[in-house]
Amino acid sequence: MSNFNNNENLEEAPVVLQVDRQRLAALEQSLTVAWPEEGCALLLGGRHAGALQLQRVWPCRNVWRPNWWETCQPRDCRDEPGEAGGLHQAHNRSDRFVVDPLELIAAQKYCRKKGILFLGVAHSHPRGAPQPSAMDQHHAWRQSLVWISAIANPNSQLTEGDRGAWWVGGSGRLQPLRIDLPPIV
Ligand SMILES: [Zn+2]
Repeated sequence: MSNFNNNENLEEAPVVLQVDRQRLAALEQSLTVAWPEEGCALLLGGRHAGALQLQRVWPCRNVWRPNWWETCQPRDCRDEPGEAGGLHQAHNRSDRFVVDPLELIAAQKYCRKKGILFLGVAHSHPRGAPQPSAMDQHHAWRQSLVWISAIANPNSQLTEGDRGAWWVGGSGRLQPLRIDLPPIV
């Protein structure tokens, strides 16, 4: 696991994620275009005490491919929980995602230039609930935000129950965040 925000380890964990309707739409549109594959996007913004603010959505390709972890990750990341043996044989981009590493580097450079924070990663579940899978938990970056939108049908409007956000604490445990959206006017 990586740890993006080492300097924030001593701060209290955030409890709420503030998102405006425009950025929510941008995020979920960028995740939807990948359907029926999992879409992913990088989330940039700010943080004040217990609140994260989503300020930029950085669309990102899902570059997962078979044997990704074997070729690109240290040995201790190769074992997938509950999937010892036939790794990846039954998987594809409809249930796996990896953010494009070049986009990740570009987004982090952008954050430094603009003085904003790299908050974390969003992805979609085309076939499942908006809950972190064992893989999501295993590969989540500590001290970062995890966002999941369940997009079973790319033509239907997503509602509150179709999305969730979590903060990955220093221990690697995912804690649910309240998503604070302004009311629809
Ligand atoms: Zn997932």
